[in-house]
Amino acid sequence: MTESPAFARRHLLGIEELSAAEIACLLDVADGYVEQNRRPDKKTALLRGRAVINLFFENSTRTRTSFELAGKRLGADTINMSVGASSIKKGETLIDTAMTLNAMHPDVLVVRHPDSGAVKLLSEKVRGAVINAGDGSHEHPTQALLDALTIRRRLGRLEGLTVAICGDVLHSRVARSNIHLLNIMGARVRVVAPPTLVPSDAERLGVEIFHDMRKGLKDADIVMMLRLQQERMNGSYVPSTREYFRFFGLTYEVLEHARPHALIMHPGPMNRGVEIDSEVADDIHRSVILEQVELGVAVRMACLDLLMRARGNEGVAA
Ligand code: ASP
Repeated sequence: MTESPAFARRHLLGIEELSAAEIACLLDVADGYVEQNRRPDKKTALLRGRAVINLFFENSTRTRTSFELAGKRLGADTINMSVGASSIKKGETLIDTAMTLNAMHPDVLVVRHPDSGAVKLLSEKVRGAVINAGDGSHEHPTQALLDALTIRRRLGRLEGLTVAICGDVLHSRVARSNIHLLNIMGARVRVVAPPTLVPSDAERLGVEIFHDMRKGLKDADIVMMLRLQQERMNGSYVPSTREYFRFFGLTYEVLEHARPHALIMHPGPMNRGVEIDSEVADDIHRSVILEQVELGVAVRMACLDLLMRARGNEGVAA
């Protein structure tokens, strides 16, 4: 394995703590894996003998599958564990589960949990590398990295771009990680949402806030739509999904205000007809939603690769 001085972390817990050099390094390595994933033979033996456990306390389709494929394509033994979060005493079970898994010497634990901060807590208890696959409304670092890779491959850069992140920012770990990453990389970030769905610390995060789609999208290079996360809402944040679509849904009419080359992104899963018009979502010229999914595997391979490189042979004899 070659040296990777730009990325020497034990865990990947969030984007906020990363430097521009570390993000660029992750994206550069991921770029290489995009090509590998398009070949008929997609597998290498880089992580042969390593064990990756996907520990998901919350439902996931694309992220879990993506990490599973990433591990397998690098030759690691990849195991999925789904743990229902609703019926358990979270704090206790989280640590118990962590210690049990730790005893099996996994090299990487990929963890998703409904509580913000739970993944960091777990990382303090285990010996292996921990990757945050989404913790509450806090961070989802690999999503922001795959979004950045998608933008960089399409538009050639991140610096200086105007990115409009639209919709349910309040409940979105995707938005939070993207805001950090785009700010670190020198993009201009706007948040476009009804006042009820803007987090109270939004201004501190370094974004411009808009409550009108037409104004928020004006001259944007990227339009990033977010899912209305009704499962995280207790109380009424929007009058009705129909009303919401009328004012905050992405339609061709609203998209007219963005730059002509503007790309449409969505982390999935999409609520068609709620935050995005179905035809816009499927527009093969403007929408890069499936490309985001494709590049997600490459990004996760890069994360596994770099975290293992940073640890060298550590853990092998433990
Ligand atoms: N899949 C993303 C997440 O896990 C976005 C979403 O669920 O809306 O946060």
